[in-house]
Amino acid sequence: MERTGGGQHTPGIVGDEVRLNTLSVPGRDHKARVIRGPIGLNLTLEIGESLADDEIFLGKVLKGFVVTLLVMIPSGGVVGWFMARRALSGVQRLTHTAGRIAAGALEQRVIVGPRGDEIDQLAQTFNTMLDRIEALIIGMREMTDNLAHDLRSPLGRIRASAETLMHGSDAHTEVGTLALETTGECDRLLEIINTTLDIAEAESGAARLNLTAVDLAALIVDAADLFQPVAESKHVCIDVDLPPDCIINGDLQRLQRVVANLLDNALKYTAPDGRVGIHLTDRGERIELVVEDSGIGMSAEELSRIFERFYRCDRSRTQAGNGLGLSLALAFVRAHGGEIKVESTPETGSRFTVLLGRAG
Ligand code: ADP
Repeated sequence: MERTGGGQHTPGIVGDEVRLNTLSVPGRDHKARVIRGPIGLNLTLEIGESLADDEIFLGKVLKGFVVTLLVMIPSGGVVGWFMARRALSGVQRLTHTAGRIAAGALEQRVIVGPRGDEIDQLAQTFNTMLDRIEALIIGMREMTDNLAHDLRSPLGRIRASAETLMHGSDAHTEVGTLALETTGECDRLLEIINTTLDIAEAESGAARLNLTAVDLAALIVDAADLFQPVAESKHVCIDVDLPPDCIINGDLQRLQRVVANLLDNALKYTAPDGRVGIHLTDRGERIELVVEDSGIGMSAEELSRIFERFYRCDRSRTQAGNGLGLSLALAFVRAHGGEIKVESTPETGSRFTVLLGRAG
């Protein structure tokens, strides 16, 4: 500790006032803390203490603080990034699975990690919820299928009775007209029931495909010929573009129904003077079948639902149909190990792409 001694009329003393100052001392590295005060007539006492120890101590603290800060910021960043990644990977897993489920893969489940943290608990709850939803949907489908199965026989008998009545009466009488209408309605209901059962059979894997070598190009030419009168009546042109040698191992009748449903929809939902195209492309192991149209198209929300049983977009309700054609097409294509993709723009048109493996 250093001390400095007194003097007279020192600046900083006003009257009898005692003052405490921090001063820079010429020729010294460190400042000094000085107290001055009058001790008698014209006498002032000035005592000072160097702040060297304090300043050295504060310098060390500051240095330590800066070093700690320099180490903490990057390592804190790394640890933070790692922890955020760990937490987000679980969220990403959930988002990814939820996306696939939204696209229709209801059998998907989130992988539950071993940590048992909040994300794992959320994944577990999510899976439990999916189990319940899947059980409910399977239950509903089974009920529809059983109902369809049980209704088929009585409906067949009602139809047979109506047909007998129709043949035994004059078509112009009231009885004849009613019998004709009843037969028509029975046919419509039986078609719905049979299609529902065909879908159920294909989806459950119970459908036995009658596999043969199917020439897809020939199948499409036949389908285009079959629909030509409908197309002509609407002034819609059907463009067909087929490469040679598009043979796949498949079930002819089921593939015919897939193409017929897609072509029927393309013509149904395209206004007069529009255009419908069918193209086949050889993609090596797979064959790509595209049915596109310049029709009314669909919104993204409608697109996400068109493969559901009985779903019909609002704008299509003026057209004949039961909302089962695409469900049937998808079930048959999947039974062949294939897939169907759709792109559509409202008021512009739709494009259905069927991918089928050559091996069937
Ligand atoms: P539907 O018997 O009603 O045609 P589908 O299962 O074949 O039943 O199709 C389901 C719904 O998808 C249709 O009602 C229609 O709203 C929509 N849709 C299918 N194909 C097309 C298309 N090519 N253009 C516009 N909408 C379509």
